Amino acid sequence: MTITAPDRLTPVLTDLWDAPEPWKLATYRAHGGYEGLAKALTMAPEDVVAEVKASGLRGRGGAGFPTGLKWSFLPAPDGGPRYLVVNADESEPGTCKDVPLMLANPHSLIEGMAITSYAIGGNVAFIYLRGEVVHVYRRLLAAVREAREAGLIGTGLGPNGDYDLEIVVHAGAGAYICGEETALLDSLEGRRGQPRLKPPFPAVAGLYARPTVVNNVESIASVPGIIRHGKDWFTAMGTPKSTGHGIFSISGHVKNPGQFEVPFGITMRELIELAGGMRDGHRLKFWTPGGSSTPIFTEAELDVPLDYDSVGAAGSMLGTRALMVFDETTSVVRVIARWTDFYQHESCGKCTPCREGTYWMKQVMHRLEAGTGLPSDVDLLLDVAGNILGRSFCALGDAAATPIQSGIKHFRAEFEAGLHTPAWELFPYEASALF
Ligand code: NAD
Ligand code: SF4
Repeated sequence: MTITAPDRLTPVLTDLWDAPEPWKLATYRAHGGYEGLAKALTMAPEDVVAEVKASGLRGRGGAGFPTGLKWSFLPAPDGGPRYLVVNADESEPGTCKDVPLMLANPHSLIEGMAITSYAIGGNVAFIYLRGEVVHVYRRLLAAVREAREAGLIGTGLGPNGDYDLEIVVHAGAGAYICGEETALLDSLEGRRGQPRLKPPFPAVAGLYARPTVVNNVESIASVPGIIRHGKDWFTAMGTPKSTGHGIFSISGHVKNPGQFEVPFGITMRELIELAGGMRDGHRLKFWTPGGSSTPIFTEAELDVPLDYDSVGAAGSMLGTRALMVFDETTSVVRVIARWTDFYQHESCGKCTPCREGTYWMKQVMHRLEAGTGLPSDVDLLLDVAGNILGRSFCALGDAAATPIQSGIKHFRAEFEAGLHTPAWELFPYEASALF
Protein backbone atom coordinates (compact mmCIF):
# COMPACT_ATOMS: atom_id res chain seq x y z
CA MET A 1 0.00 0.00 0.00
CA THR A 2 1.26 3.47 -0.79
CA ILE A 3 1.30 5.54 2.36
CA THR A 4 -0.10 8.99 1.78
CA ALA A 5 1.19 11.81 3.90
CA PRO A 6 -1.90 12.37 6.14
CA ASP A 7 -1.69 8.73 7.31
CA ARG A 8 1.73 9.45 8.66
CA LEU A 9 0.76 11.81 11.46
CA THR A 10 1.64 10.14 14.79
CA PRO A 11 0.33 12.46 17.49
CA VAL A 12 1.92 11.34 20.73
CA LEU A 13 3.46 14.46 22.23
CA THR A 14 1.01 16.62 20.29
CA ASP A 15 -2.13 14.52 20.85
CA LEU A 16 -3.61 16.85 23.47
CA TRP A 17 -2.65 20.14 21.84
CA ASP A 18 -6.20 20.77 20.61
CA ALA A 19 -7.90 19.55 23.81
CA PRO A 20 -9.43 22.13 26.16
CA GLU A 21 -6.75 23.34 28.63
CA PRO A 22 -4.23 20.62 27.71
CA TRP A 23 -1.70 22.13 30.12
CA LYS A 24 -3.77 21.19 33.17
CA LEU A 25 -2.80 18.17 35.25
CA ALA A 26 -6.37 16.85 35.15
CA THR A 27 -6.39 16.82 31.33
CA TYR A 28 -3.04 15.08 31.18
CA ARG A 29 -4.03 12.44 33.76
CA ALA A 30 -7.35 11.78 32.02
CA HIS A 31 -5.30 10.64 29.02
CA GLY A 32 -2.92 8.35 30.88
CA GLY A 33 -0.51 11.01 32.09
CA TYR A 34 1.85 10.00 34.93
CA GLU A 35 1.12 6.28 34.37
CA GLY A 36 4.66 5.99 33.00
CA LEU A 37 6.06 7.50 36.20
CA ALA A 38 4.00 5.19 38.40
CA LYS A 39 5.35 2.22 36.42
CA ALA A 40 8.95 3.49 36.46
CA LEU A 41 8.90 3.86 40.25
CA THR A 42 8.16 0.14 40.56
CA MET A 43 11.16 -0.72 38.34
CA ALA A 44 14.83 -0.79 39.27
CA PRO A 45 16.49 2.44 38.05
CA GLU A 46 18.88 0.47 35.84
CA ASP A 47 15.91 -1.25 34.17
CA VAL A 48 14.45 2.15 33.28
CA VAL A 49 17.78 3.11 31.70
CA ALA A 50 17.88 -0.23 29.85
CA GLU A 51 14.35 0.25 28.48
CA VAL A 52 15.13 3.73 27.13
CA LYS A 53 18.40 2.45 25.69
CA ALA A 54 16.59 -0.41 23.95
CA SER A 55 13.97 1.99 22.55
CA GLY A 56 16.70 3.60 20.44
CA LEU A 57 15.53 7.11 21.47
CA ARG A 58 18.05 9.63 20.12
CA GLY A 59 18.52 13.19 21.36
CA ARG A 60 15.89 15.47 19.88
CA GLY A 61 17.94 18.66 20.37
CA GLY A 62 19.78 18.19 17.09
CA ALA A 63 22.83 15.97 17.53
CA GLY A 64 20.86 12.70 17.80
CA PHE A 65 23.09 11.18 20.49
CA PRO A 66 21.44 8.01 21.94
CA THR A 67 19.58 9.12 25.09
CA GLY A 68 19.79 5.91 27.13
CA LEU A 69 23.49 5.57 26.30
CA LYS A 70 24.11 9.12 27.56
CA TRP A 71 22.39 8.23 30.85
CA SER A 72 24.51 5.10 31.18
CA PHE A 73 27.71 7.18 30.98
CA LEU A 74 27.14 8.53 34.48
CA PRO A 75 29.72 7.10 36.89
CA ALA A 76 28.56 4.82 39.70
CA PRO A 77 26.84 6.65 42.59
CA ASP A 78 29.28 8.01 45.18
CA GLY A 79 26.77 9.49 47.60
CA GLY A 80 27.02 12.99 46.10
CA PRO A 81 24.40 14.77 43.99
CA ARG A 82 23.68 13.97 40.33
CA TYR A 83 21.54 16.20 38.19
CA LEU A 84 19.20 16.25 35.24
CA VAL A 85 19.22 19.53 33.31
CA VAL A 86 16.64 19.96 30.56
CA ASN A 87 17.85 22.13 27.73
CA ALA A 88 14.81 24.28 26.97
CA ASP A 89 16.83 27.09 25.41
CA GLU A 90 15.37 26.44 21.96
CA SER A 91 16.85 29.15 19.73
CA GLU A 92 17.94 27.59 16.46
CA PRO A 93 16.42 29.76 13.69
CA GLY A 94 13.30 28.03 12.39
CA THR A 95 13.05 25.64 15.34
CA CYS A 96 9.70 25.92 17.10
CA LYS A 97 8.80 22.58 18.69
CA ASP A 98 9.90 22.72 22.34
CA VAL A 99 8.21 26.03 23.13
CA PRO A 100 4.76 24.91 21.88
CA LEU A 101 5.28 21.52 23.55
CA MET A 102 5.98 23.11 26.95
CA LEU A 103 3.11 25.56 26.50
CA ALA A 104 0.56 22.93 25.49
CA ASN A 105 1.66 19.99 27.59
CA PRO A 106 4.17 20.89 30.31
CA HIS A 107 3.28 17.77 32.30
CA SER A 108 4.72 15.48 29.64
CA LEU A 109 8.07 17.16 30.31
CA ILE A 110 7.67 17.05 34.09
CA GLU A 111 6.72 13.36 34.01
CA GLY A 112 9.71 12.63 31.76
CA MET A 113 11.97 14.54 34.15
CA ALA A 114 10.71 12.55 37.13
CA ILE A 115 11.31 9.23 35.33
CA THR A 116 14.74 10.29 34.10
CA SER A 117 15.83 11.64 37.49
CA TYR A 118 14.75 8.41 39.15
CA ALA A 119 16.63 6.38 36.53
CA ILE A 120 19.90 8.29 37.01
CA GLY A 121 19.59 8.65 40.79
CA GLY A 122 19.07 12.42 40.82
CA ASN A 123 17.01 14.32 43.38
CA VAL A 124 17.14 17.79 41.84
CA ALA A 125 16.36 18.57 38.22
CA PHE A 126 16.46 21.86 36.33
CA ILE A 127 14.68 23.27 33.30
CA TYR A 128 16.90 25.91 31.65
CA LEU A 129 14.39 27.92 29.64
CA ARG A 130 15.11 30.56 27.05
CA GLY A 131 14.43 33.82 28.86
CA GLU A 132 12.30 35.58 26.27
CA VAL A 133 9.38 33.16 26.52
CA VAL A 134 7.93 34.52 29.76
CA HIS A 135 4.53 32.92 29.07
CA VAL A 136 6.20 29.48 28.96
CA TYR A 137 8.09 30.26 32.18
CA ARG A 138 4.82 31.01 33.96
CA ARG A 139 3.18 27.89 32.57
CA LEU A 140 6.08 25.68 33.70
CA LEU A 141 6.04 27.20 37.19
CA ALA A 142 2.31 26.55 37.45
CA ALA A 143 2.67 22.96 36.19
CA VAL A 144 5.52 22.19 38.61
CA ARG A 145 3.40 23.59 41.45
CA GLU A 146 0.43 21.44 40.34
CA ALA A 147 2.62 18.31 40.20
CA ARG A 148 4.06 19.06 43.65
CA GLU A 149 0.62 19.64 45.19
CA ALA A 150 -0.57 16.34 43.70
CA GLY A 151 2.37 14.51 45.27
CA LEU A 152 3.85 13.58 41.88
CA ILE A 153 7.12 15.31 42.71
CA GLY A 154 8.46 16.32 46.11
CA THR A 155 9.32 14.01 48.98
CA GLY A 156 8.37 10.41 49.75
CA LEU A 157 7.64 9.31 46.18
CA GLY A 158 7.24 5.74 44.92
CA PRO A 159 5.64 2.63 46.43
CA ASN A 160 8.13 2.66 49.32
CA GLY A 161 8.09 6.44 49.74
CA ASP A 162 11.87 6.55 49.53
CA TYR A 163 12.42 8.78 46.51
CA ASP A 164 12.58 12.61 46.57
CA LEU A 165 12.64 14.99 43.61
CA GLU A 166 12.65 18.76 43.35
CA ILE A 167 12.28 20.55 39.99
CA VAL A 168 13.65 24.08 39.46
CA VAL A 169 12.62 26.24 36.50
CA HIS A 170 15.36 28.71 35.50
CA ALA A 171 14.94 31.42 32.86
CA GLY A 172 18.08 32.32 30.91
CA ALA A 173 18.86 35.77 29.57
CA GLY A 174 18.39 35.20 25.85
CA ALA A 175 21.80 34.17 24.49
CA TYR A 176 21.83 31.55 21.70
CA ILE A 177 25.15 30.17 22.95
CA CYS A 178 23.48 29.15 26.23
CA GLY A 179 21.78 26.37 24.26
CA GLU A 180 25.25 24.77 23.99
CA GLU A 181 25.12 22.39 26.91
CA THR A 182 28.27 23.47 28.75
CA ALA A 183 27.61 27.20 28.25
CA LEU A 184 24.14 26.45 29.62
CA LEU A 185 25.70 24.86 32.71
CA ASP A 186 27.99 27.86 33.25
CA SER A 187 25.00 30.17 32.94
CA LEU A 188 22.97 28.03 35.36
CA GLU A 189 25.85 28.28 37.83
CA GLY A 190 25.61 32.07 37.59
CA ARG A 191 28.52 32.74 35.28
CA ARG A 192 28.73 34.19 31.78
CA GLY A 193 27.58 31.45 29.39
CA GLN A 194 30.55 30.23 27.34
CA PRO A 195 31.29 26.67 26.20
CA ARG A 196 33.61 24.53 28.29
CA LEU A 197 36.28 22.24 26.93
CA LYS A 198 34.95 18.69 26.35
CA PRO A 199 35.86 16.11 27.60
CA PRO A 200 35.00 15.88 30.39
CA PHE A 201 31.42 15.60 29.14
CA PRO A 202 28.65 16.72 31.51
CA ALA A 203 27.86 13.06 32.20
CA VAL A 204 31.12 12.96 34.17
CA ALA A 205 31.55 16.59 35.32
CA GLY A 206 28.56 18.81 34.64
CA LEU A 207 26.59 21.13 36.91
CA TYR A 208 28.77 22.11 39.90
CA ALA A 209 31.26 19.56 38.48
CA ARG A 210 28.88 16.73 39.37
CA PRO A 211 27.59 13.98 37.00
CA THR A 212 24.83 15.60 34.95
CA VAL A 213 22.53 14.50 32.18
CA VAL A 214 21.66 17.33 29.79
CA ASN A 215 18.77 16.45 27.48
CA ASN A 216 16.46 18.35 25.17
CA VAL A 217 12.80 18.98 26.07
CA GLU A 218 11.39 16.71 23.36
CA SER A 219 13.79 13.88 24.30
CA ILE A 220 12.65 13.93 27.93
CA ALA A 221 8.97 14.34 27.02
CA SER A 222 9.29 11.20 24.87
CA VAL A 223 10.36 9.07 27.86
CA PRO A 224 6.93 8.59 29.56
CA GLY A 225 5.46 6.99 26.42
CA ILE A 226 8.40 4.59 26.15
CA ILE A 227 8.05 3.47 29.76
CA ARG A 228 4.26 3.29 29.66
CA HIS A 229 3.91 1.43 26.36
CA GLY A 230 7.31 -0.30 26.18
CA LYS A 231 10.23 -0.09 23.82
CA ASP A 232 8.54 -2.20 21.12
CA TRP A 233 5.75 0.36 20.77
CA PHE A 234 8.40 3.03 20.17
CA THR A 235 10.60 1.05 17.80
CA ALA A 236 7.55 0.18 15.68
CA MET A 237 7.67 3.84 14.56
CA GLY A 238 10.44 5.39 12.50
CA THR A 239 13.41 3.56 11.03
CA PRO A 240 15.67 0.95 12.66
CA LYS A 241 18.34 3.53 13.58
CA SER A 242 16.06 6.57 14.02
CA THR A 243 13.19 5.13 16.01
CA GLY A 244 10.01 6.77 17.16
CA HIS A 245 8.03 9.92 16.57
CA GLY A 246 9.34 13.46 16.28
CA ILE A 247 7.95 16.96 15.93
CA PHE A 248 9.01 18.57 12.65
CA SER A 249 8.58 22.37 12.46
CA ILE A 250 7.75 23.63 8.98
CA SER A 251 7.91 27.35 8.26
CA GLY A 252 8.14 29.54 5.19
CA HIS A 253 6.41 29.42 1.85
CA VAL A 254 3.99 26.53 2.45
CA LYS A 255 0.24 26.98 2.80
CA ASN A 256 -0.06 25.70 6.39
CA PRO A 257 3.18 26.09 8.34
CA GLY A 258 3.31 24.53 11.80
CA GLN A 259 4.42 21.53 13.82
CA PHE A 260 3.82 18.04 12.46
CA GLU A 261 4.49 14.99 14.62
CA VAL A 262 5.41 12.08 12.37
CA PRO A 263 7.67 9.03 12.44
CA PHE A 264 11.33 9.55 11.57
CA GLY A 265 12.03 8.59 7.99
CA ILE A 266 9.23 10.67 6.47
CA THR A 267 10.36 12.68 3.44
CA MET A 268 10.23 16.41 2.89
CA ARG A 269 7.94 15.83 -0.09
CA GLU A 270 5.40 14.19 2.25
CA LEU A 271 5.81 16.89 4.86
CA ILE A 272 5.21 19.67 2.34
CA GLU A 273 2.06 17.80 1.35
CA LEU A 274 1.04 17.66 5.02
CA ALA A 275 1.63 21.42 5.20
CA GLY A 276 -0.81 21.97 2.34
CA GLY A 277 1.80 22.25 -0.40
CA MET A 278 3.74 25.28 -1.63
CA ARG A 279 1.81 28.54 -1.71
CA ASP A 280 -0.23 28.85 -4.90
CA GLY A 281 1.63 29.67 -8.08
CA HIS A 282 5.10 29.19 -6.60
CA ARG A 283 7.70 26.44 -6.63
CA LEU A 284 10.35 25.27 -4.20
CA LYS A 285 13.77 26.85 -4.48
CA PHE A 286 15.59 25.56 -1.39
CA TRP A 287 14.94 24.31 2.15
CA THR A 288 16.77 23.47 5.35
CA PRO A 289 16.64 20.16 7.22
CA GLY A 290 17.83 21.55 10.55
CA GLY A 291 17.41 25.30 10.71
CA SER A 292 20.11 27.68 9.60
CA SER A 293 22.93 25.46 10.93
CA THR A 294 22.70 22.74 8.30
CA PRO A 295 23.55 22.86 4.58
CA ILE A 296 20.66 23.97 2.41
CA PHE A 297 18.83 21.36 0.36
CA THR A 298 16.98 21.74 -2.93
CA GLU A 299 14.42 19.69 -4.90
CA ALA A 300 17.07 16.99 -5.33
CA GLU A 301 16.74 16.01 -1.64
CA LEU A 302 12.91 16.04 -1.42
CA ASP A 303 12.74 12.24 -1.26
CA VAL A 304 15.55 11.72 1.25
CA PRO A 305 14.08 9.98 4.32
CA LEU A 306 14.36 12.38 7.23
CA ASP A 307 16.28 10.11 9.57
CA TYR A 308 19.78 10.63 10.99
CA ASP A 309 21.57 8.26 8.61
CA SER A 310 19.83 9.14 5.35
CA VAL A 311 20.21 12.89 5.89
CA GLY A 312 23.82 12.26 6.90
CA ALA A 313 24.41 10.35 3.66
CA ALA A 314 22.91 13.29 1.76
CA GLY A 315 25.59 15.55 3.24
CA SER A 316 23.84 17.21 6.17
CA MET A 317 22.82 16.65 9.77
CA LEU A 318 19.17 16.19 10.56
CA GLY A 319 19.64 18.73 13.34
CA THR A 320 16.58 20.22 14.96
CA ARG A 321 14.14 19.29 12.14
CA ALA A 322 13.48 22.98 11.52
CA LEU A 323 12.32 22.78 7.94
CA MET A 324 12.39 26.27 6.46
CA VAL A 325 10.91 26.36 2.97
CA PHE A 326 11.78 29.05 0.41
CA ASP A 327 10.27 29.52 -3.02
CA GLU A 328 11.64 31.12 -6.20
CA THR A 329 10.85 34.66 -5.01
CA THR A 330 13.59 34.35 -2.36
CA SER A 331 17.11 35.72 -2.65
CA VAL A 332 19.43 33.10 -1.19
CA VAL A 333 21.98 35.88 -0.59
CA ARG A 334 19.52 37.85 1.54
CA VAL A 335 18.53 34.78 3.56
CA ILE A 336 22.11 33.77 4.27
CA ALA A 337 23.03 37.39 5.05
CA ARG A 338 20.31 37.41 7.75
CA TRP A 339 21.57 34.12 9.19
CA THR A 340 25.14 35.45 9.18
CA ASP A 341 24.00 38.57 11.06
CA PHE A 342 22.47 36.24 13.62
CA TYR A 343 25.62 34.14 14.11
CA GLN A 344 27.86 37.21 14.28
CA HIS A 345 25.61 38.70 16.94
CA GLU A 346 25.41 35.45 18.93
CA SER A 347 29.10 34.47 18.70
CA CYS A 348 30.31 34.40 22.30
CA GLY A 349 33.78 35.63 21.30
CA LYS A 350 35.71 32.89 23.06
CA CYS A 351 37.59 31.60 20.02
CA THR A 352 39.19 33.53 17.17
CA PRO A 353 37.91 31.70 14.06
CA CYS A 354 34.27 32.26 14.99
CA ARG A 355 34.64 35.71 16.62
CA GLU A 356 36.62 37.21 13.72
CA GLY A 357 35.27 35.00 10.92
CA THR A 358 31.59 35.73 11.53
CA TYR A 359 32.42 39.46 11.59
CA TRP A 360 34.13 39.30 8.19
CA MET A 361 31.53 37.03 6.63
CA LYS A 362 28.88 39.51 7.72
CA GLN A 363 30.72 42.42 6.02
CA VAL A 364 31.07 40.46 2.77
CA MET A 365 27.49 39.19 2.79
CA HIS A 366 26.21 42.75 3.21
CA ARG A 367 28.31 43.92 0.24
CA LEU A 368 26.91 41.13 -1.93
CA GLU A 369 23.38 41.82 -0.79
CA ALA A 370 23.77 45.50 -1.70
CA GLY A 371 25.26 44.70 -5.12
CA THR A 372 28.59 46.28 -4.16
CA GLY A 373 30.67 43.11 -3.84
CA LEU A 374 34.33 43.00 -4.80
CA PRO A 375 35.50 40.55 -7.51
CA SER A 376 37.27 38.44 -4.89
CA ASP A 377 34.31 38.33 -2.45
CA VAL A 378 32.79 34.94 -3.28
CA ASP A 379 36.15 33.19 -2.97
CA LEU A 380 36.90 35.23 0.14
CA LEU A 381 33.69 33.96 1.72
CA LEU A 382 34.67 30.38 0.93
CA ASP A 383 38.13 30.99 2.36
CA VAL A 384 36.83 32.47 5.62
CA ALA A 385 34.12 29.80 5.97
CA GLY A 386 36.71 27.09 5.34
CA ASN A 387 38.89 28.51 8.11
CA ILE A 388 36.02 28.47 10.60
CA LEU A 389 34.70 25.01 9.81
CA GLY A 390 36.30 22.39 12.04
CA ARG A 391 38.50 25.03 13.73
CA SER A 392 36.10 26.67 16.12
CA PHE A 393 35.61 25.78 19.76
CA CYS A 394 31.94 24.80 19.55
CA ALA A 395 29.27 24.02 16.97
CA LEU A 396 28.22 27.68 16.54
CA GLY A 397 31.22 28.50 14.33
CA ASP A 398 30.55 25.51 12.08
CA ALA A 399 26.89 26.49 11.94
CA ALA A 400 27.79 29.97 10.67
CA ALA A 401 30.09 28.65 7.96
CA THR A 402 27.90 25.81 6.69
CA PRO A 403 25.05 27.73 4.97
CA ILE A 404 27.55 30.01 3.24
CA GLN A 405 29.45 27.08 1.79
CA SER A 406 26.34 25.24 0.65
CA GLY A 407 24.67 28.44 -0.59
CA ILE A 408 27.60 29.15 -2.88
CA LYS A 409 27.73 25.51 -3.97
CA HIS A 410 24.10 25.59 -5.13
CA PHE A 411 23.66 29.24 -6.15
CA ARG A 412 27.10 30.63 -6.99
CA ALA A 413 25.72 32.73 -9.86
CA GLU A 414 23.39 34.49 -7.43
CA PHE A 415 26.30 35.37 -5.16
CA GLU A 416 28.30 36.61 -8.17
CA ALA A 417 25.37 38.79 -9.24
CA GLY A 418 25.96 40.57 -5.92
CA LEU A 419 29.09 42.11 -7.47
CA HIS A 420 26.88 44.48 -9.47
CA THR A 421 23.17 44.10 -8.65
CA PRO A 422 21.42 44.47 -5.27
CA ALA A 423 19.41 41.45 -4.14
CA TRP A 424 16.27 43.57 -3.88
CA GLU A 425 16.49 44.35 -7.61
CA LEU A 426 17.05 40.70 -8.52
CA PHE A 427 14.16 39.63 -6.28
CA PRO A 428 11.75 42.59 -6.25
CA TYR A 429 8.73 40.49 -5.35
CA GLU A 430 10.43 39.28 -2.17
CA ALA A 431 11.62 42.80 -1.35
CA SER A 432 8.14 44.26 -1.69
CA ALA A 433 6.78 41.46 0.53
CA LEU A 434 9.36 42.20 3.19
CA PHE A 435 9.13 45.99 3.41
P1 NAD B 1 27.60 16.77 20.23
O1 NAD B 1 27.46 15.76 19.15
O2 NAD B 1 28.95 17.26 20.62
O3 NAD B 1 26.98 16.17 21.59
C1 NAD B 1 25.67 15.65 21.65
C2 NAD B 1 25.43 15.15 23.05
O4 NAD B 1 26.07 13.92 23.27
C3 NAD B 1 25.91 16.07 24.16
O5 NAD B 1 24.98 16.06 25.21
C4 NAD B 1 27.22 15.44 24.61
O6 NAD B 1 27.51 15.71 25.96
C5 NAD B 1 26.93 13.98 24.39
N1 NAD B 1 28.15 13.21 24.12
C6 NAD B 1 28.79 13.14 22.93
N2 NAD B 1 29.86 12.34 23.03
C7 NAD B 1 29.90 11.90 24.32
C8 NAD B 1 30.76 11.04 25.05
N3 NAD B 1 31.83 10.46 24.48
N4 NAD B 1 30.50 10.83 26.36
C9 NAD B 1 29.41 11.39 26.94
N5 NAD B 1 28.55 12.22 26.31
C10 NAD B 1 28.80 12.45 25.01
O7 NAD B 1 26.64 17.98 19.85
P2 NAD B 1 26.44 19.40 20.54
O8 NAD B 1 27.56 20.32 20.21
O9 NAD B 1 26.08 19.21 21.99
O10 NAD B 1 25.13 19.90 19.81
C11 NAD B 1 25.14 20.24 18.44
C12 NAD B 1 23.73 20.17 17.94
O11 NAD B 1 22.94 21.13 18.61
C13 NAD B 1 23.59 20.43 16.46
O12 NAD B 1 23.27 19.22 15.84
C14 NAD B 1 22.43 21.39 16.36
O13 NAD B 1 21.41 20.86 15.53
C15 NAD B 1 21.89 21.47 17.75
N6 NAD B 1 21.39 22.80 18.07
C16 NAD B 1 20.13 22.89 18.55
C17 NAD B 1 19.58 24.12 18.85
C18 NAD B 1 18.15 24.20 19.34
O14 NAD B 1 17.61 25.30 19.42
N7 NAD B 1 17.52 23.08 19.68
C19 NAD B 1 20.35 25.27 18.71
C20 NAD B 1 21.64 25.15 18.23
C21 NAD B 1 22.17 23.92 17.91
FE1 SF4 C 1 32.14 31.15 21.14
FE2 SF4 C 1 31.84 30.94 18.46
FE3 SF4 C 1 33.97 29.93 19.60
FE4 SF4 C 1 31.57 28.77 20.03
S1 SF4 C 1 32.65 28.86 18.09
S2 SF4 C 1 33.18 29.21 21.55
S3 SF4 C 1 30.28 30.62 20.01
S4 SF4 C 1 33.40 32.14 19.59
